[in-house]
Amino acid sequence: MRLPCPYCGERDSREFTYRGDATLTRPAVESEMADYVYQRDNPLGWHKEYWLHTVCRTWLAVERDTRTHALGPVSIARCERVGS
Ligand SMILES: [Zn+2]
Repeated sequence: MRLPCPYCGERDSREFTYRGDATLTRPAVESEMADYVYQRDNPLGWHKEYWLHTVCRTWLAVERDTRTHALGPVSIARCERVGS
């Protein structure tokens, strides 16, 4: 699989690290953190996820079909703040 980095261009997936589900929002309540950290779905089909390009340290939000590794939109990930 090859992923497009906005700064480096299209690169092999070995330069990237999967960093998790991009559809989850960090909970504001401490008691919900265990589920947020450890409970994961294993979706089949299109899914939005975070990838880190380890070469330039850019976080990406990637839409990917988990069955075929086809890519949809790829953008620079935006930081969300809890409670603001
Ligand atoms: Zn890059």
